[in-house]
Formats: sequence, C-alpha cells, structure tokens
Amino acid sequence: SRARPETQASKMPAKKKIAIMTSGGDSPGMNGVVRACVRMAIHLGCDAYCIYEGYEGLVRGGDLIRKMAWYDVRGWLSEGGTLIGTARCMAFYERPGRLAAAKNLIINGIDALIICGGDGSLTGADRFRAEWPSLLEELVSQGEFKADEIEPFRHLNIVGLVGSIDNDLSGTDATIGCYSALARICHAIDLIEATASSHSRAFVVEVMGRHCGWLALMAGVATGADFIFIPEKPSEDNWREEMCSIVEHHRKIGKRKTIVVIAEGALDREGNKITPTMVKDLLADKDGLGLDTRITTLGHVQRGGTAVAYDRMLATLQGVEAVRAVLEATPDTKTCVIAINENKIVRKPLMEAVLDTKKVAKAIERQAFEEAMALRDTEFSEQYKSFKMTTAVQVDKEVMLPENERMKIGFINVGAPAGGMNAAVRAGVAYCLSRGHEPIAIYNGFAGFARHHQDKPLGAVRPFNWLEVDGWASKGGSEIGTNRELPSESGMEEIANLIKQYHFDALFLVGGFEAFHAVSQLRKAREQYPSLCIPMTLLPATISNNVPGTEYSLGSDTCLNELVEYCDKIKQSASATRRRVFVIETQGGRSGYVAMLGGLGVGASAVYTPEEGVSLDMLAADVRHLKSVFGQDQGQSRAGRLILINERASKVYNAKLIADILRDEAHGRFESREGIPGHMQQGGVPSPMDRCRAVRLAIRCIQHLEQFGPKAHSKVQADPMSATVIGIKGASVVFTPVNKVEEEETDWPNRRPKAAFWLGMKEIVDILGGRPKYEHPQPDL
Ligand code: ATP
Repeated sequence: SRARPETQASKMPAKKKIAIMTSGGDSPGMNGVVRACVRMAIHLGCDAYCIYEGYEGLVRGGDLIRKMAWYDVRGWLSEGGTLIGTARCMAFYERPGRLAAAKNLIINGIDALIICGGDGSLTGADRFRAEWPSLLEELVSQGEFKADEIEPFRHLNIVGLVGSIDNDLSGTDATIGCYSALARICHAIDLIEATASSHSRAFVVEVMGRHCGWLALMAGVATGADFIFIPEKPSEDNWREEMCSIVEHHRKIGKRKTIVVIAEGALDREGNKITPTMVKDLLADKDGLGLDTRITTLGHVQRGGTAVAYDRMLATLQGVEAVRAVLEATPDTKTCVIAINENKIVRKPLMEAVLDTKKVAKAIERQAFEEAMALRDTEFSEQYKSFKMTTAVQVDKEVMLPENERMKIGFINVGAPAGGMNAAVRAGVAYCLSRGHEPIAIYNGFAGFARHHQDKPLGAVRPFNWLEVDGWASKGGSEIGTNRELPSESGMEEIANLIKQYHFDALFLVGGFEAFHAVSQLRKAREQYPSLCIPMTLLPATISNNVPGTEYSLGSDTCLNELVEYCDKIKQSASATRRRVFVIETQGGRSGYVAMLGGLGVGASAVYTPEEGVSLDMLAADVRHLKSVFGQDQGQSRAGRLILINERASKVYNAKLIADILRDEAHGRFESREGIPGHMQQGGVPSPMDRCRAVRLAIRCIQHLEQFGPKAHSKVQADPMSATVIGIKGASVVFTPVNKVEEEETDWPNRRPKAAFWLGMKEIVDILGGRPKYEHPQPDL
C-alpha cells in the first residue's frame, strides 16, 4: 500500500465512514477543511469520503460520493474556492430530496457527516439530523432496506463548520474565508487610495454582505475609510447630513481623498436600501461637496484567490476538531458547530448559533437595529465604536473629558518594526484627541528619547499632526521610528528626568520583547525614580509573537501571510519537473511560532523549532521518510515538499546544511534547496487582521491608562495594574500586570513565553503532513 502515516485505529472506538462536503457560497479555506478532515479521518483509522457539489451530490449520489485517499488532497491548502464543488440544491429543501440523501449515505455505508457552509447549509444539516430516524423508517417501509440493514446507521453524527466570506454566523468570531475576503477588499482599497489621492477624488466601494456588515466595517477600520454603510447600524438620523459633514470636515483639514465603503445590504433607518449610486450622487452634488466621485463594485473578486494564513490555520484546526467531534459524539450529543472565540477553538450547539444568526436578519427587517448590533459578537460593536472614534475625530464633542481629567500620553515604539504598529499609534492618537488628551510622539524608541535634545538629534518629542497620522492606517514599518535599545542602555536616570520634564501622565508602548523588557525595567526603577510612577501599558507588536502575556502580537499575522505566500511560490516552482525538498528558514528569534504556524499553513513535511531542537536522529528519521515518499512516487509527489526551520532552532543545523544533508542522502531520488525569505517576513502592507486588531487593542490600552487620570503618581505605586501588557489569551482580551508576567510567564534566557500555546499544533502539522511520529530518545543518565 501507499506510504502514509500509521493510523491510531486501535485507540478509536468503531471505525467510521466520515463524509465531508462544502455547501452554499464558496469561500477561501474550504479546501483546507477538506484536506484536514480527509487526512485526520484516515489517520484515525476511518474511511474518508467527499460529497461533491454540496447537497446536490448527497441527493444524486453515484459518483458524486467518492472515497478519498491520503494523496487525493495533496496541495489543497493553497487552492482557492472549493475543489469538491458546491451548489444550491432545491431538492434538499423537500423531504423526498432528503430521503434520497439518506439512502445514498446508507448505500455508501457513511455514518458521519461534516458540512462546511453558511447558515443555510447548517440549517439543512440540522433538519436532516432531526429527521434522520423517520427517514430511516420510511426507507424500510418503502422496502429500500431491511430493518437489520439500517441498524448500524441508527445514529447519524453531523458536525458543522462555518465556511463563509461574510463572517455572518453568530457564536464565532471568524468564519473560514472571511479574513481572505477582507484581505482582497483592503488590497483593492489600498490601490484605489493612491489614485483617489492623486486626483483628489472620492470613491464609493461596494463590498459583499447582504445581512452582515462585517466586511464593510472591518474594511473601514483597516483602511481608515471616511464613512461606512452597514445593514446592522444605519446612521442615527439623516445619513446624508452625517456623511457630508464628516467628509467635509476631512476635506477641510486637508485630506485629498475620500473613501466610502458600503455593504450590499446597506439600509437607512426606515429600512430603505442605500445604493452606491445614491451615495455617489450626493458626494458629487454640485450644490454640496461637488467631489469628483467614482463607484467601484468589487464583486466576486472578494471570493477569489487562495486563503490567507489565518484562514488556513482556522480551516485546518477546525477540520481536525470536526473529525474529533464526530468520533466523540454519542447518540445524545447535540449537533455541534466548530467555532473560534478570540484564539480558542470551541464546539457550540449548531442550532443555537443558526437561530441567533437568523435573529439578526429578522431584527434588521424589523428595523430593530440596536438588537441587531447586540446579537453580533462583542468584537463587532467594539470595532464599530472604534471606527466612529478613529474617523469622526474632533467632530464628536460628546465624548470629550472634562479638562481636569485629560492626560498627556507619550507614545513610543520599541524593537523591530511589525505590521500594525502604525495603525495602533493612529488609533491611539485618534482616541486621545477625541477625549481631549494630549498624545505626544517619542521618536525612535528610548534611544531617540534619551538623545533627542543633544547636538545630533536621533529622535524628537512632539505632538502628533492628525492629518499626517490619519494616513497611517495601512502603512507598514514604524512612522515614529523604533529602536531596540532598553531604558537601562539609554540611561534610566535620563529617561526618568525626561518623563518628568515633559510632564507625561502615562506611557503607551508598542513593540516586541524589548518593549516588554523596557516596561519591566521602568517598573522596577520606580522606587528609585518617582517620575516613573505613571501608568504604562504595552501593546505587543512583533512578527516573532514571542511577547509573554499574550498569544498574539501585532505583525505576526502579516508575517505568516508573507511566509505562506513565499512558500506557495517556491513549492510551485518545483511542480513542473522536479522532485524537490525546500528547507525554508523562518524568523522568530527563539520562538518557533512563526515556523509552526507557517508549517500549518503550507502543509510542511516537518517543522524544526527552538522549543524542540534538532537532532541527528530526527534528521535521519525525516530523511528516511522523504526517501520512502519519493521512492513510491507515482506522479503525485511532483510538487515540492517543504521543511520549515526557525532561525534559532539549532546551533549546528541551519537551512543550508539540512538541505545539503538531504541532497547527499537522497542519492538522486530527489533534489534539495534552501530558501531564506529573511526580512521579507516583516511584510510590506500590514494584513487587515493586524490593522484591525491594532485599532481595537490600542483603544483599549488608552482606555486602560485613562482610568488612572492625570498626575496619578501616588495611586500608581501600589497598583499592579499600572504597568501592564494587553494580550489575547484563550477566549479573552486581558491586561496582565507586568510583574506577574515577569515572574510567572517569562522564559527570560530564551526571550519568549514559558508556555507556548501553539505547541499542540505540532502534532497536527506532523499528522497532516504525513510525518511519522518521532520519539525523542531518553537522555542517558
Ligand atoms: P452562504 O452564506 O454563502 O449563502 P449558505 O449555506 O447560507 O451559504 P444557502 O444557499 O442558504 O447557503 O444554503 C445552501 C444549501 O443548503 C441550499 O441550497 C439547500 O440545499 C440547503 N438548505 C438551506 N436551508 C435549508 C433548509 N431550511 N432545509 C433544508 N436544506 C436547506
């Protein structure tokens, strides 16, 4: 038989025949789901089937239901759309259609079904399962099967996965495909901005979303659009006046471009449709703004292309979870859907999620807009507020604080640049301005701060200019400059004096491990320098994602996208003629996060991390495995294979050496090359996820600092929350006191968190990549 990983059949209950299908509108990542489900099912000793063309295939049966082999899903992670097809199926709405579907499942011996689709598809699935016993009875009474033949099929297990670009399902923060669609939209808007600016034009960009404004909202947040229209939240009074006054204000302060994002399903307060043409006519009205205005309808471009790294991760982890859920289900288990909350994959009752989703559409129909907003997840309304706050800045006087509560807040970037740093600073500044605080830029980190007033200024300390900052939403790098130097290196006394001299009431830091170390130093130096007794908080930003106190740093998503794109291209370069193994060296310092998640996103054959290390035995095992894979090649192994190695995984084995060893050992069976994407991994334009999270988390940071109020020195000394790191931990966003993070969560020598939440993903990468299990030998005592 073909080489594939050993199964764990003995550990599992009964062997199951699990079918996977995609249904409803296609979305990027669906292929990743199918790959993960097929391979996980086979790995666990089950048979895997694909049902082609959605419910249509289930109803029609025949060769639309196919057994899948390990290699049938090879390379699917990097393919867009759904390779097993999807269709709208009228027959499945009717009982005879579902009866035919039940018959086809039994004929094929299938006793579990995983469905990836939108709320319609999941509703159909739930109905099917509810009806299942009666469908079986009917099949028996019609004489299709004998009673004992249907006995093994008494319980049909169904698990749902949400594949949709709209991100419209309640109960999950992200649907598989939504971040890919958002990436396409933001890319398009980024391109439009240049031409809009050149001609001083206005653009009305229409994006998908009939009942859900997530794409429009997040695109607005990520690009810093001037105005958005979403179905859930029409303007309070007159949208025409509101939009025009905001656009006019922006033009007055000197903006040369106007971007309005409108969801397909945009409505006014009375429930009437707002169309792009209506918006355009208003912006172009000669008696009003008189802007040269164009409409761009993005259409199906939004669905296209391969999945971004996040969607590949989601598709893979959720696919694996779906197979586990199917196997663990008992006859009493409620049908579940696999969701994600912040950073945690969870199972939820399917029908509740679907019903909540339907409630949103109904609330919009009834024009109960407050209710519609409340039914969306918390991130949605938080981001809506963020959007309002960061665009309508200085217009809305309602949120201004009384004078004696306003603070002077220093902004500083520390460490290497990471995607989203500028978006974070922009959002923080916007929030400060709208509250009446005074945000001050400290240029070029602590080094710039300490030396800015000397003869050769390295940095500067000055107020932000909003017009300039407003353009930073989508900019990569660090506009206020960043530097790795720690306060102790710059001179702690100097820093303390400067903080006093500038009367800073608080410090907002954005940066990586150095930034964390900096806060730690400042906190410890408070006893000696009372001027350091001001609240300070860190928003982690580093592509390495190695800041303790959080599972996510700004920039890490951008980095993974770059890495995955790079690997896709490299892999393809080999597909025409060569059998090749590429050994790709990733960044990440002593944290293997980037390597591991990159490996998950591209389907690596092996990932080497500093956490695990690299040994001669491990290499030998991988060489043997690759030899056997290529040895049995019948054409399927044409495309390149990838090994990802973190830059610090081993003192001895680097990408080049491993590539050399592989080549030498392969004896002509395959070729081997190294690839080092290097600083490309910092990314050009930051990903929408990094930009959106930057906005949300930065605002939370300033809100946190704000609680202390100005001149809070006496309060600060005793309060551990006065020096914090904001982070996403599991299913929540939390501030953790730096002293706690220092003591409990930091592996100082290795400059990374003690616990790597992602380590469990290694097993999944290895299983799905077909890598045999490698047992580390016990050390000799
Ligand atoms: P999208 O979010 O992209 O629209 P969806 O899954 O909601 O995806 P639908 O067209 O609503 O897309 O549903 C897909 C298919 O699921 C339908 O063509 C139909 O076969 C089946 N389906 C939907 N609703 C039901 C239902 N109430 N009963 C039975 N089957 C249904």
